[in-house]
Amino acid sequence: MIREIPTINKKDRKTDKYIDIPKCDIESLSLDKSIDKSMIRDIRTSIPHVAEPDVVRHYTNLSSKNHHVDQDFYPLGSCTMKYNPKINDKIASNPNFTDMHPDQCEADIQGTLNLMYKLEKMLNSITGMNRTTLQPTAGSQGEFVGLLIMKKYHKLKKNDKKVVLIPESAHGTNPASVILSGYEVVQVKTNEEGCTDLEDLRSKVNEDVAGMMLTQPNTLGIFEKDILEISKLIHDVDGLMYMDGANLNALLSISRPADMGFDITHMNLHKTFSTPHGGGGPGAGPIGVVEKLVDFLPSPMIDKDENNKYFLNKNDSTSIGSIHSNFGNVGVLVRAYCYIKSLGDEGLRDVSRNAIINANYLKKRLSDYYDVPFFKNTMHEFVISAVNQKNKGLKALDIAKLILDKGYHAPTIYFPTNIPEAMMMEPTETESKDTLDSFADYLIYISENIDNKLTKFLESPSNTPVKRLNETKANRELNLNWQDELSDNK
Ligand SMILES: *Cc1c(COP(=O)(O)O)cnc(C)c1O
Repeated sequence: MIREIPTINKKDRKTDKYIDIPKCDIESLSLDKSIDKSMIRDIRTSIPHVAEPDVVRHYTNLSSKNHHVDQDFYPLGSCTMKYNPKINDKIASNPNFTDMHPDQCEADIQGTLNLMYKLEKMLNSITGMNRTTLQPTAGSQGEFVGLLIMKKYHKLKKNDKKVVLIPESAHGTNPASVILSGYEVVQVKTNEEGCTDLEDLRSKVNEDVAGMMLTQPNTLGIFEKDILEISKLIHDVDGLMYMDGANLNALLSISRPADMGFDITHMNLHKTFSTPHGGGGPGAGPIGVVEKLVDFLPSPMIDKDENNKYFLNKNDSTSIGSIHSNFGNVGVLVRAYCYIKSLGDEGLRDVSRNAIINANYLKKRLSDYYDVPFFKNTMHEFVISAVNQKNKGLKALDIAKLILDKGYHAPTIYFPTNIPEAMMMEPTETESKDTLDSFADYLIYISENIDNKLTKFLESPSNTPVKRLNETKANRELNLNWQDELSDNK
């Protein structure tokens, strides 16, 4: 039986008596001498007052209510929720990294600068790019930075560009980044094989096109095999090719973005290179660029001088500027460094090969029961459609709830949006055949029992801390005001 956990505000004891600090023996200073009076609070803060054990239990309980990859299978498509070696966390937690002050002088942090310098070199060789900035803290920030670089390139060449092309299956951050950067989005259709429709692309390529953003393999998990032709079409109008590299888990040491004609690519270190993620960070979304864009990269870059000393190279005259204080999320960079070093070239290739084999195996097992709109050329993830199940009364959403009940995380549902009742699965390379089989058996069981168990199925989930939510209400009447909670409690 799971007890409900009230919010921390509901636990407020309205007393300071838990805090037992010795009386201060330093003369107190009045704040109003140094701070404007209007800025000084005259009422008690509304931070909840609770004892230490209450705080510890509260957050420990909350943390274990969430699904996580250490608990069970997490096939959330497009997210690469893979299990990562704990040794990388351990090394990143070394106080020599965690206690470093971001403003420490270069001479004191040679070890960390050395690590970042080498990580950049390794990422360059994985993507084939000339240089990589480690500053962006998410794939989406990498996209935005990449687009600012694209803008700067066109500005300096006095190119009057307006449009960035994006396939209709793109991840939502792609069009969002384009709009933030001031360009317009034009969508390109997907053909019957699940790839960019070349005819449609040709009709949309013109002098207005600043570039194209493409995910490779794309968000249907399919390799864009016409990539060289696509790159040529865009380059012919002096556009730039941006690769959304969130799916790099399928390409490691097999093929490189630069060889496919991409000029800019981001990498999600928190997806492909070992930082556990979910819940919003911290992450890292380095971007690599080809030679002609190197000068525009955010400042500073980490370089080595003639005495083999590492230093922060501030090239502010041509750079798009700084996009993060200091160096980005160093802990994430340390994990990526350890991960790549421990696997090596051959190990990285095995990561991608196994990710591809696992996805193909799971897809094949499900394909006799679920519709697979694009069956061919699957890489590390795939999309099935629950249209047949929906016709019998069980939608993709209902199936996702049933999956939660069994102790797995649900796949991504209703994305990509061009597939009805989409369920997008990415098993990743670290899962065993046993896990994939149990998961497939369960999905097959669901599909085979819709007729005789529909009512029961629709009550799911019943084994999770939170039962079925009224999602419409949650969307329409969203209330994030925690002060309401406090006043409830008065
Ligand atoms: C995750 C993802 C992104 C965004 O990356 P964040 O690090 O979450 O900002 C972009 N594109 C694709 C295809 C993704 O899967």
